[in-house]
Amino acid sequence: MHVDRRTFLKGTAAVGGALGLGVFDLSKARAEMRELKIARTTETRSTCPYCSVSCGVIIHTLGDKSKNVKGSVVHVEGDPDHPINRGTLCPKGITLKDNIQHPGRLTTPKVRRPGSDKWEEISWEAAYAGIARHIKDTRDKTFVATNAKGERVNRTPGIVMIGGCTDTNEFNFLQWKVSAGLGVTYRDTQARV
Ligand code: SF4
Repeated sequence: MHVDRRTFLKGTAAVGGALGLGVFDLSKARAEMRELKIARTTETRSTCPYCSVSCGVIIHTLGDKSKNVKGSVVHVEGDPDHPINRGTLCPKGITLKDNIQHPGRLTTPKVRRPGSDKWEEISWEAAYAGIARHIKDTRDKTFVATNAKGERVNRTPGIVMIGGCTDTNEFNFLQWKVSAGLGVTYRDTQARV
Protein backbone atom coordinates (compact mmCIF):
# COMPACT_ATOMS: atom_id res chain seq x y z
CA MET A 1 0.00 0.00 0.00
CA HIS A 2 1.40 3.40 -0.95
CA VAL A 3 1.15 6.12 1.72
CA ASP A 4 2.25 9.59 0.70
CA ARG A 5 3.95 11.95 3.12
CA ARG A 6 0.88 14.14 3.69
CA THR A 7 -1.36 11.17 4.59
CA PHE A 8 1.31 9.74 6.88
CA LEU A 9 1.67 13.03 8.76
CA LYS A 10 -2.12 13.38 9.11
CA GLY A 11 -2.37 9.85 10.53
CA THR A 12 0.49 10.44 12.94
CA ALA A 13 -1.10 13.67 14.15
CA ALA A 14 -4.45 11.91 14.65
CA VAL A 15 -2.91 9.10 16.73
CA GLY A 16 -0.85 11.61 18.71
CA GLY A 17 -3.99 13.65 19.36
CA ALA A 18 -5.91 10.57 20.48
CA LEU A 19 -3.15 9.61 22.92
CA GLY A 20 -2.94 13.18 24.15
CA LEU A 21 -6.70 13.28 24.78
CA GLY A 22 -6.57 10.00 26.62
CA VAL A 23 -8.74 8.14 24.06
CA PHE A 24 -6.35 5.17 24.27
CA ASP A 25 -5.44 4.30 27.86
CA LEU A 26 -2.20 2.33 27.61
CA SER A 27 -1.42 2.32 31.32
CA LYS A 28 -3.06 -1.08 31.90
CA ALA A 29 -1.25 -2.63 28.95
CA ARG A 30 2.06 -1.25 30.21
CA ALA A 31 1.38 -2.48 33.74
CA GLU A 32 0.58 -5.92 32.31
CA MET A 33 3.86 -5.94 30.37
CA ARG A 34 5.80 -5.02 33.51
CA GLU A 35 4.12 -7.74 35.52
CA LEU A 36 4.68 -10.45 32.91
CA LYS A 37 8.47 -10.38 33.04
CA ILE A 38 8.91 -11.88 36.49
CA ALA A 39 5.35 -12.91 37.31
CA ARG A 40 5.17 -16.29 39.05
CA THR A 41 8.94 -16.59 39.38
CA THR A 42 10.89 -17.78 42.40
CA GLU A 43 13.61 -15.40 43.61
CA THR A 44 16.98 -16.87 44.53
CA ARG A 45 19.73 -14.67 45.93
CA SER A 46 23.21 -15.51 44.72
CA THR A 47 26.61 -14.03 43.85
CA CYS A 48 27.93 -13.09 40.40
CA PRO A 49 30.75 -15.58 39.65
CA TYR A 50 32.74 -13.46 37.18
CA CYS A 51 35.06 -11.48 39.40
CA SER A 52 36.13 -10.94 43.00
CA VAL A 53 33.91 -7.89 43.45
CA SER A 54 31.24 -10.56 44.12
CA CYS A 55 28.10 -8.52 43.40
CA GLY A 56 24.82 -9.84 44.76
CA VAL A 57 22.21 -10.98 42.22
CA ILE A 58 18.60 -12.11 42.27
CA ILE A 59 17.81 -14.99 39.92
CA HIS A 60 14.18 -15.28 38.81
CA THR A 61 13.17 -18.84 37.99
CA LEU A 62 9.93 -20.13 36.50
CA GLY A 63 8.73 -23.51 37.76
CA ASP A 64 7.01 -24.49 41.00
CA LYS A 65 9.92 -26.65 42.24
CA SER A 66 7.77 -29.79 42.04
CA LYS A 67 9.51 -33.06 41.44
CA ASN A 68 10.25 -33.60 37.75
CA VAL A 69 9.73 -29.90 36.97
CA LYS A 70 12.80 -28.30 35.46
CA GLY A 71 13.17 -24.67 36.52
CA SER A 72 13.89 -22.10 33.86
CA VAL A 73 15.77 -18.87 34.59
CA VAL A 74 13.92 -15.96 32.98
CA HIS A 75 15.68 -12.96 34.49
CA VAL A 76 18.76 -12.02 36.53
CA GLU A 77 19.18 -8.63 38.15
CA GLY A 78 21.33 -6.90 40.76
CA ASP A 79 20.23 -7.32 44.36
CA PRO A 80 19.23 -3.88 45.72
CA ASP A 81 19.73 -5.10 49.31
CA HIS A 82 23.28 -6.33 48.70
CA PRO A 83 25.89 -4.14 50.47
CA ILE A 84 28.49 -4.49 47.68
CA ASN A 85 26.58 -3.47 44.57
CA ARG A 86 23.23 -2.07 45.84
CA GLY A 87 21.35 -3.45 42.84
CA THR A 88 23.83 -2.53 40.10
CA LEU A 89 25.64 -4.96 37.80
CA CYS A 90 28.42 -4.27 35.31
CA PRO A 91 27.94 -5.13 31.58
CA LYS A 92 29.47 -8.55 32.17
CA GLY A 93 27.41 -9.42 35.24
CA ILE A 94 24.17 -8.42 33.53
CA THR A 95 24.68 -11.27 31.01
CA LEU A 96 24.62 -13.87 33.78
CA LYS A 97 21.34 -15.41 32.56
CA ASP A 98 23.10 -16.61 29.40
CA ASN A 99 25.87 -18.19 31.49
CA ILE A 100 23.31 -20.07 33.61
CA GLN A 101 21.38 -21.30 30.58
CA HIS A 102 24.39 -22.17 28.41
CA PRO A 103 24.12 -25.79 27.21
CA GLY A 104 27.84 -26.31 27.89
CA ARG A 105 27.56 -25.36 31.59
CA LEU A 106 28.75 -28.08 33.96
CA THR A 107 26.09 -29.09 36.47
CA THR A 108 27.52 -32.36 37.80
CA PRO A 109 31.00 -33.41 38.95
CA LYS A 110 33.20 -35.21 36.44
CA VAL A 111 36.31 -37.32 36.87
CA ARG A 112 39.04 -38.42 34.46
CA ARG A 113 40.42 -41.71 35.72
CA PRO A 114 44.16 -42.45 35.53
CA GLY A 115 45.08 -43.47 31.98
CA SER A 116 41.67 -42.47 30.57
CA ASP A 117 41.14 -39.84 27.88
CA LYS A 118 37.49 -39.25 28.83
CA TRP A 119 35.67 -37.32 31.53
CA GLU A 120 33.10 -39.42 33.36
CA GLU A 121 30.05 -38.03 35.17
CA ILE A 122 29.81 -39.02 38.84
CA SER A 123 27.43 -38.24 41.72
CA TRP A 124 28.18 -35.54 44.28
CA GLU A 125 28.49 -38.25 46.98
CA ALA A 126 31.10 -40.09 44.91
CA ALA A 127 32.94 -36.80 44.30
CA TYR A 128 33.04 -35.93 48.04
CA ALA A 129 34.21 -39.44 48.96
CA GLY A 130 36.89 -39.38 46.22
CA ILE A 131 38.20 -35.95 47.26
CA ALA A 132 38.35 -36.98 50.94
CA ARG A 133 40.21 -40.17 50.00
CA HIS A 134 42.76 -38.29 47.88
CA ILE A 135 43.32 -35.65 50.57
CA LYS A 136 43.92 -38.30 53.25
CA ASP A 137 46.25 -40.38 51.06
CA THR A 138 48.23 -37.34 49.86
CA ARG A 139 48.58 -35.95 53.38
CA ASP A 140 49.78 -39.30 54.71
CA LYS A 141 52.36 -39.53 51.91
CA THR A 142 53.68 -35.96 51.98
CA PHE A 143 53.29 -34.77 55.60
CA VAL A 144 56.44 -33.13 56.97
CA ALA A 145 56.63 -33.05 60.77
CA THR A 146 60.04 -31.38 61.17
CA ASN A 147 62.35 -29.39 58.92
CA ALA A 148 66.07 -29.99 58.26
CA LYS A 149 66.97 -28.25 61.51
CA GLY A 150 64.69 -30.54 63.49
CA GLU A 151 62.14 -27.78 64.15
CA ARG A 152 58.47 -28.83 64.21
CA VAL A 153 56.63 -27.52 61.10
CA ASN A 154 53.66 -29.93 60.61
CA ARG A 155 53.06 -29.06 56.96
CA THR A 156 51.58 -30.85 53.95
CA PRO A 157 53.36 -29.56 50.82
CA GLY A 158 51.63 -32.14 48.62
CA ILE A 159 48.27 -30.29 48.69
CA VAL A 160 47.29 -26.87 47.32
CA MET A 161 43.98 -25.24 48.30
CA ILE A 162 42.40 -22.58 46.05
CA GLY A 163 39.13 -20.78 46.81
CA GLY A 164 36.85 -19.27 44.17
CA CYS A 165 35.93 -15.63 43.70
CA THR A 166 32.31 -16.15 44.75
CA ASP A 167 33.15 -17.74 48.07
CA THR A 168 31.88 -15.74 51.01
CA ASN A 169 34.11 -14.51 53.81
CA GLU A 170 32.59 -17.20 56.00
CA PHE A 171 33.44 -19.94 53.47
CA ASN A 172 36.98 -18.67 53.06
CA PHE A 173 37.40 -18.47 56.84
CA LEU A 174 36.38 -22.14 57.12
CA GLN A 175 38.52 -23.11 54.13
CA TRP A 176 41.51 -21.46 55.83
CA LYS A 177 40.82 -23.29 59.07
CA VAL A 178 40.47 -26.67 57.33
CA SER A 179 43.65 -26.04 55.29
CA ALA A 180 45.60 -25.04 58.39
CA GLY A 181 44.30 -28.11 60.22
CA LEU A 182 45.62 -30.30 57.43
CA GLY A 183 48.97 -28.50 57.41
CA VAL A 184 48.39 -27.02 53.94
CA THR A 185 50.63 -24.00 53.50
CA TYR A 186 50.05 -23.40 49.77
CA ARG A 187 46.63 -21.76 49.75
CA ASP A 188 44.98 -18.83 48.03
CA THR A 189 41.67 -17.32 46.96
CA GLN A 190 40.90 -14.82 44.25
CA ALA A 191 40.01 -12.32 46.96
CA ARG A 192 43.44 -12.88 48.57
CA VAL A 193 41.75 -13.40 51.94
S1 SF4 B 1 28.64 -7.79 38.18
FE1 SF4 B 1 30.61 -7.23 37.27
S2 SF4 B 1 31.74 -6.22 38.92
FE2 SF4 B 1 30.06 -7.38 39.87
S3 SF4 B 1 30.96 -9.40 40.38
FE3 SF4 B 1 30.00 -9.58 38.36
S4 SF4 B 1 31.67 -9.17 36.91
FE4 SF4 B 1 32.35 -8.41 38.90
